[in-house]
Amino acid sequence: VLQVRNVTKRFGGLVAVNDVSFDVTEHSVMGLIGPNGSGKSTMINMISGSFAPTAGSIRLEGHELAGKPAHKVARLGVGRTFQLVRLLPELSVLDNVIAGAAFGHRRRWGAEARAHALTLIDRLGLTAVMGMPVSALTYIDTKRVELARALAGDPEVLLLDEWLAGLNPTELGTGIALIRSLRDEGRTIILVEHVMDAIRSLCDRCVVMSSGTRIAEGTPAEVLSDPEVIRAYLGDDDA
Ligand code: ATP
Ligand code: MG
Repeated sequence: VLQVRNVTKRFGGLVAVNDVSFDVTEHSVMGLIGPNGSGKSTMINMISGSFAPTAGSIRLEGHELAGKPAHKVARLGVGRTFQLVRLLPELSVLDNVIAGAAFGHRRRWGAEARAHALTLIDRLGLTAVMGMPVSALTYIDTKRVELARALAGDPEVLLLDEWLAGLNPTELGTGIALIRSLRDEGRTIILVEHVMDAIRSLCDRCVVMSSGTRIAEGTPAEVLSDPEVIRAYLGDDDA
């Protein structure tokens, strides 16, 4: 459903992503993994239209996404969460999720947006806090709101940039179960993640990045036992 072809991103002299290609098939979870600074967020930001690639093509069901602004990419079917939470802090949980319903793939307004938002709020366990401003929430609840907002637009492809980062062990279990339930309902997900348990239990396949290049692709078991991947995680890749 999504084809990333020879995508490169330069920031001045720095090549953050270097000629990376991969495909994501429908109803699958693709892990995008690799050490800090390897270019994962930059890749996600190009898929979601936050950055235009310097070169290459990103196609969603045949539509070229590369170079399109984020709001057009969202309408074409890409939904996302951010590594650093980006919500409207003064607005309530409900209003943040309703805002997501207006910006997504299948856009909803008014009573329809509200009903859809309430369903997602219930599913993510946010009913008790839905009237509160986002600035008053616990960290995990802000993460839940981000996910609810991304889902509110019914994305074809959901990009999760370290959605599990910073959760305590109990929350982690709940978070993994939640992503699993999204996978089980047939969603297509790109999961940027450092949590190995989550990678092993959720991903159908993984692309491994190191210093901007794709160094491996395969099942989690395959890539996590690949000596080159292990070396990259140990930080020897720049030696
Ligand atoms: P992490 O696991 O720490 O989130 P990452 O794999 O997501 O890392 P990126 O955030 O994609 O890594 O960063 C890749 C490289 O690109 C880094 O060297 C980073 O400093 C650089 N970079 C990212 N965004 C920008 C930007 N907007 N301007 C300049 N350089 C950037
Ligand atoms: Mg990142």
